[in-house]
Amino acid sequence: KKRNDTHLSQLASVGQIAAGIAHEVKNPLTAVKGFLQLLKEKNELKYIEIAESELGNAINILQNLLHVSKPDLEEEPYVSIDLSVELDALTQLFQDQMYRVSVHKTLQNPGSYIFGKKNQLKKVFFNLLKNAFEAIPGNGFIYIEHMATENEVMISIQDTGVGIPQEKLGLLGTPFYTTKENGTGMGLTLVFSVIYQHNGSIEVQSSEDGGTKFTITFPRETKNIRLKEVVYLELEATMS
Ligand code: ADP
Ligand code: MG
Repeated sequence: KKRNDTHLSQLASVGQIAAGIAHEVKNPLTAVKGFLQLLKEKNELKYIEIAESELGNAINILQNLLHVSKPDLEEEPYVSIDLSVELDALTQLFQDQMYRVSVHKTLQNPGSYIFGKKNQLKKVFFNLLKNAFEAIPGNGFIYIEHMATENEVMISIQDTGVGIPQEKLGLLGTPFYTTKENGTGMGLTLVFSVIYQHNGSIEVQSSEDGGTKFTITFPRETKNIRLKEVVYLELEATMS
């Protein structure tokens, strides 16, 4: 079975993101321009209404984007998180609604923590699990692995779904990239942005018909991290 390892961090380049945004916003703006021209020629009020509604579309698209970059602006505090607790809750949530897929979890080193924003991280795993479910036609499996080494916490989510063609791997995380009829193409954009904010990394392995595996790595919350913070606070206190 052919497998491809790709560092998504390198692929979700600024250029691709810019192209995605430009493409999506250009359509409604082009329509607005057209209707304003018609308005000039025919002086009919209805063109103002259409232009207004197209502008609304453009604003919606930009608002979606702001939502993704919102983690930065949100005041959510960093806390110690045991990801296995969050993963359990999410798995339950999905499993209760979808019996056609069975979810298996393995956990090594319980009680390993990471330092992060809980709600943002929940969104990450919600989106990855949702994509995994959506990729599986009919019955199938999702395997969740959660393990910790001395310095890192790793989570992988593997599905037996349709897989991703190799030439499309580079598009993952690009805003609005979707192959679904009702997809937003914003799920992985959020996933990538939150993971990077947490100094994490994400990789994907996929083959058509062989399913997909996302592997996420975060730095583990260590005594060192806490120590550093204390030192920093003490320094600050000394200076003032
Ligand atoms: P959406 O789910 O709204 O399409 P996402 O950003 O979550 O947007 O995903 C973008 C695209 O990446 C999907 O449309 C799909 O083609 C592909 N994809 C993501 N996760 C998987 C997966 N587990 N298996 C197969 N394809 C996937
Ligand atoms: Mg999605």
